[in-house]
Amino acid sequence: MDYQKILDEIAIEIAALPNDGEVANYIPELAKANPDKFGMHLTTVRNEHFAVGDAEDKFSIQSISKVFSLAMAFSLMGEKLWKRVGVEPSGNPFNSIVQLEYENGIPRNPFVNAGALVVVDVLLSELQNPEEDLFAFVRSLTGSTDITYNAKVAQSEKETGYLNSAFVNMMKAKGNIVNDTEEILDFYYKQCSIEMNCRELASAFLHFGENGLAYSHAGFSLTKSQVKRLNALMLSCGFYDESGQFAFKVGLAGKSGVGGGIAAVFPEEFAVAVWSPKLNKKGNSVRAFNSLELLTTKTESSIF
Ligand code: GLU
Repeated sequence: MDYQKILDEIAIEIAALPNDGEVANYIPELAKANPDKFGMHLTTVRNEHFAVGDAEDKFSIQSISKVFSLAMAFSLMGEKLWKRVGVEPSGNPFNSIVQLEYENGIPRNPFVNAGALVVVDVLLSELQNPEEDLFAFVRSLTGSTDITYNAKVAQSEKETGYLNSAFVNMMKAKGNIVNDTEEILDFYYKQCSIEMNCRELASAFLHFGENGLAYSHAGFSLTKSQVKRLNALMLSCGFYDESGQFAFKVGLAGKSGVGGGIAAVFPEEFAVAVWSPKLNKKGNSVRAFNSLELLTTKTESSIF
């Protein structure tokens, strides 16, 4: 398979289409992203690397980070984790509070914001140095030692994160949050404002499509069966309330973030990350989504 040729074709085809959508602006710092950026990096299980466009530019990974924190919490807690957070698609936007009220403070899945906040609560309870461990884990998955978060983005999120405060307080009231709510929110905002490039994201996600996380990364490991569960959650819940569309059109397990990134996995063959800041109304990058649809069509490599 000539992946480089396919990536080059995708970049040309995408550039020929109007650059639709809006850069996320509900987090003011994110609105500063250059809307014309586009990068894509694909890495295979044979350690081949293919890239096009701005694949080396760092960007705010936002909700893609929820996969990393979930992998850590699942490694620590095993199946007990699912008593605190569900595994069903939400059908509601990532920042909907309604479900929490009538489902007794148990978020639908770990990728809606409320679910990711419970995951943070678990990390704060189980780890002595959760922040160090998160960065050590992500650096180990990518092999990049310089991965860190953007303090301005984290601060911007903190200043405007009224709904996230509401989730964590609602769950505390319902008995599903143990730690101090401010500590949870601070950790969550740092996690969301981690900056990575497409190459680093593809390298990290390859572990979810290769031989699992059977060997330990910074002390965290997952069995093949646990990696299967992680991929199943990405497939069914990884794209807000557009997860069905992503499965339908792209057919890979993956996760998007409002920074405009999408990382996805074709098990036993490749992981791919795409970045373009303009989002559709559901919060997914228009160009990243379309690029991945072109990729799986051209390579005939969907998991279905
Ligand atoms: N930090 C963002 C928030 O909490 C994450 C949103 C996302 O990428 O889905 O609103």
